[in-house]
Amino acid sequence: MVNGRLFVISAPSGTGKTTLLKQAMSEVARLKFSVSHTTRAPRQGEVDGKDYHFVSEEDFLRLRDNDGFLESAHVHQNYYGTSRSAVADLLEQGVDVVLDIDVQGATILMESGELAATYIFIAPPDMKELERRLRSRGSDSDEAIQVRLDNAIAELSAADKYEYLIVNNDLQDAATLLCSIIRAERSKARRNGDGSPAEIKM
Ligand code: ADP
Ligand code: 5GP
Repeated sequence: MVNGRLFVISAPSGTGKTTLLKQAMSEVARLKFSVSHTTRAPRQGEVDGKDYHFVSEEDFLRLRDNDGFLESAHVHQNYYGTSRSAVADLLEQGVDVVLDIDVQGATILMESGELAATYIFIAPPDMKELERRLRSRGSDSDEAIQVRLDNAIAELSAADKYEYLIVNNDLQDAATLLCSIIRAERSKARRNGDGSPAEIKM
């Protein structure tokens, strides 16, 4: 069994990462989204266990202190973390795993070197469009939007640390590029586009 690969994806909030990932997950076989834990309140339509594991701050900190997270960070006034055991189980089953995490979390993983991963940064076309997308989502208060815009500047300056950069201008183009990167990484690891081992038959 070939172990799965980690794809670490970061973008300033509102860039369209969730939209892009939904599309990529429906197009690429054997790819699973790692459901993070967060202390943030659910947005309308978000489902516990599917979008996030929504937990209290007390439960989050207990998990963190018991080494339950591969990485965790305080982002936009809330805690977020990636379950160590859930990711390890999937990778061992040979499934590729997508982490949607912020720049702080990605930096922790890059520096720990604990797991090999492909790092992909998604950027908005510009700040004006980022603000428009945050407002169009209609899920965050003016204050929360301002915090996200302020954080976006620092996050964009970290894009150079990532191997790949996708500018999410046209959604379909960006989704095609994301799927192509995942397939190319599989090919690099001698696997077919569906994740199975690639063989040369004589
Ligand atoms: P993120 O997960 O990065 O915070 P979302 O996926 O929630 O962002 O997208 C934020 C908003 O921008 C949503 O209303 C979404 O429909 C819209 N959006 C995403 N990608 C594009 C795009 N390429 N062009 C225009 N609007 C987009
Ligand atoms: P949102 O609240 O908009 O869903 O996410 C806010 C930010 O938290 C995004 O940048 C998202 O990538 C990040 N995030 C989500 N889950 C995790 C996680 O498990 N760890 C870290 N470090 N960041 C996360």
